[in-house]
Amino acid sequence: MQSCDKCKIEIRGNKARCPLCGGKLKGEPESPAFPALKRKIITRALLVRIAAFILFVFCLAMRIVDYASPAGISWLPLAIISAFVGFGDICVMAYYHNNPLKTITIQIYVGMFISLIVDYYTGWHAWSVVWVLPGAFCGMVIATIITGLILRMRLQDFVLYLLFDTLFALVQFVFLFKEINPFPLPAVISTAMIIVFFVGILLFRWRDFASASSRYFNT
Ligand SMILES: [Zn+2]
Repeated sequence: MQSCDKCKIEIRGNKARCPLCGGKLKGEPESPAFPALKRKIITRALLVRIAAFILFVFCLAMRIVDYASPAGISWLPLAIISAFVGFGDICVMAYYHNNPLKTITIQIYVGMFISLIVDYYTGWHAWSVVWVLPGAFCGMVIATIITGLILRMRLQDFVLYLLFDTLFALVQFVFLFKEINPFPLPAVISTAMIIVFFVGILLFRWRDFASASSRYFNT
């Protein structure tokens, strides 16, 4: 047992200093009187490893698509560069940021915006609306769920991200109706999948959604 000469008290457990005077303790520390709750948190190294794995799979998949399409995909370098930038972001975020979900969401929107601009200024081949946006919206929903699971968040703590992802994904229909999108299938499939997923949340996890909404809109 530890003790403080100054305060004439004995202290159970294992303390670095006297809880009363902050002075040094004498004696042998004991094992803690109360069991400490173990909180499993994801380590930064694991997050970076997961990101590296996703990067690897993405690059491989892009190579295969490039190989399989007759003319090759002209925006392959851009996609690979973006993936590496995204990976770099995740590494930075893993070590410096404390709201990964927000960071990921903002970064994906920035990525989509950049690809629209690059597409626009390189003669508008529409690859941004045909491929990047549908992929990015689906990717954002998947990334949100994976991040939520990794961080052990409750659904009600990230369901609003999914709501806004779904609403913003609908923006793709503007490109369809304005006939800016020459090959609408990926956009339609991606948006349909996101809507179906969100309807599923509304039907089966309504309470999470309701409590998240009331918290968000009442404050
Ligand atoms: Zn003391």
